[in-house]
Amino acid sequence: MRIGVISDVHGNLEALSATLEALADVDQLVCLGDAVGYGANPNECCHRLMTACRIAIRGNHDRAALDESLADEFNAEARAAAFWTAEVLDRTSWFYLNALPDVAEAGSALLVHGAPSDPDGYILCAEQAQLEFFLMDATVCFFGHTHLPEAYSYEPSDATVAPVGLLPGEPLSLAGPRRYLLNPGSVGQPRDGDPRASCGVFDDQAGTFELRRVEYNVGRAQEKILRAGLPPFLASRLETGG
Ligand code: ZN
Repeated sequence: MRIGVISDVHGNLEALSATLEALADVDQLVCLGDAVGYGANPNECCHRLMTACRIAIRGNHDRAALDESLADEFNAEARAAAFWTAEVLDRTSWFYLNALPDVAEAGSALLVHGAPSDPDGYILCAEQAQLEFFLMDATVCFFGHTHLPEAYSYEPSDATVAPVGLLPGEPLSLAGPRRYLLNPGSVGQPRDGDPRASCGVFDDQAGTFELRRVEYNVGRAQEKILRAGLPPFLASRLETGG
């Protein structure tokens, strides 16, 4: 089965629509959380995800939209966006986000927002990844939260972990007995210097993971953010992917 993996849509409907089109060839879609926060279309994104994704989990921004006190530890822009999102969230979206689990499975793959050990944890280096491999059983785990496409492989014979390069159009072969932590990057707010929406395709039969980058109408998403009165930085960063 070919599973499209998306994460961190963050209310960016333009990026989500383009990404769903680019993933039209997959058998199933899963979402790793943060449907809302930052972008100007939280409800439209929830409604699309609700029907498009077979399995979804929620992220820290989804939880903050349901309970504003959780935004206290966010930076100023994220907090302003969380308050705005909480205010405009419709009942359908509220119930949807509230119903999502923090962890799920898609076939043999584990799905988490931040890390297996902590839904709000960040995996940004091999040392952190190694700890997570010790704490999970899954052969393949998908995670988001960092907004960076990244991959780590774990070699069980000597318990070592190595970062693995992910390039669009160059499927990574997931060769056993190694285990993998894989991040498809962010659909709605990429932070790796490439403004294109980021997503991935996991083929559990072929044992491959392929990164995809998708052009979308950044200008329109920016315009909506500014018109909604959200912090201008949330619009400008979409242009640089930073
Ligand atoms: Zn996020």
